Amino acid sequence: MIPQTDISPADWRAQLREVITSGEDLLRLLHLRPEQVGYSSLAVQDFALKVPRAFVGRMRVGDPEDPLLRQVLASAEELLVTADYSADPVGETGDAIRHPGIIQKYHGRLLLMLSSGCAINCRYCFRRHFPYHSNQNSRREWLQALEHVATDTSISEVIFSGGDPLLVADEQLADLVERIATIPHVQRIRVHTRLPVVIPERVTPALLEALAGSRLQSTVVIHTNHANELDDKVAAAMQALRSAGITLLNQAVLLKGVNDSKQALVELSERLFALGVLPYYLHLLDKVQGAAHFDVSAQRAVVLADQVAAELPGYLVPRLVREEAGQPAKVGVNNGHALLAV
Ligand SMILES: *Cc1c(COP(=O)(O)O)cnc(C)c1O
Ligand code: SF4
Repeated sequence: MIPQTDISPADWRAQLREVITSGEDLLRLLHLRPEQVGYSSLAVQDFALKVPRAFVGRMRVGDPEDPLLRQVLASAEELLVTADYSADPVGETGDAIRHPGIIQKYHGRLLLMLSSGCAINCRYCFRRHFPYHSNQNSRREWLQALEHVATDTSISEVIFSGGDPLLVADEQLADLVERIATIPHVQRIRVHTRLPVVIPERVTPALLEALAGSRLQSTVVIHTNHANELDDKVAAAMQALRSAGITLLNQAVLLKGVNDSKQALVELSERLFALGVLPYYLHLLDKVQGAAHFDVSAQRAVVLADQVAAELPGYLVPRLVREEAGQPAKVGVNNGHALLAV
């Protein structure tokens, strides 16, 4: 039984149309001056500034170090060119792409890029230089991708990604899931998205029906980095997803100045669990050019992860991982105990 909500589909579309794209407007709303936060209008030319008003509403007015603001504010530090940082740090423009809009890097799982855009532009994103125009899936390409899924019996899980796959209309998602459900060897679908957090109204009854209405097991991985992102509206959206039988996981990126403290990480895990979401991965930053100011060293990350593990039950401790091109899975970053043991 799919719970009904009183949210109309138009609401999230309206919020998308009203996203803030001007740094000046954003800072005015927060009563901050550009020089207080290192804002750079030049960085915006590289990668647009984009943030939904609902997300801005969770920022602290007058705080230049707000952890949500830092995730979306175009900063002068992005213009620095850093050695070891590249435009494609995770190897997604090479061999991993066999068909347009498909990435098949890991056994049993196939990733479909359903949308090139996002509702929010996160400054640390490894896709900030991604050649989306050549990898954007049209409907015809989805159908071709599904032919590939049908012929590769090793695929048991289809992952919707992007960009943000929930920018796709509910009817199209429903059609896609229905088609996937006809492929016998596929058992699971998974959606990687930030939309239910940044615009909770995205969780419409039709979306719940599309994701949970087939024989496939359904998981939604929300991408949240800080507990302050999770307000009551997000809680209601999570509740609706859970009531529909969807498993909820979170994936975070460890980001300097956003969540690189024991307290921030513990609070994030606890808040997620209060909303029925389990912490899944904590990623080290992908070394993408323009994001070096978010970097936390692997060494410090391990110390933080150990501190979190010492404070929380195991099921609230995300796996600390990094993405490495050419590896068969996300690579676990050793914790201190493991290092001592070898
Ligand atoms: C991260 C990722 C997955 C999913 O990996 P899990 O470890 O199953 O979460 C699948 N495909 C690609 C291309 C990925 O980057
Ligand atoms: S892909 Fe994810 S991290 Fe990157 S801009 Fe979109 S929502 Fe943010």
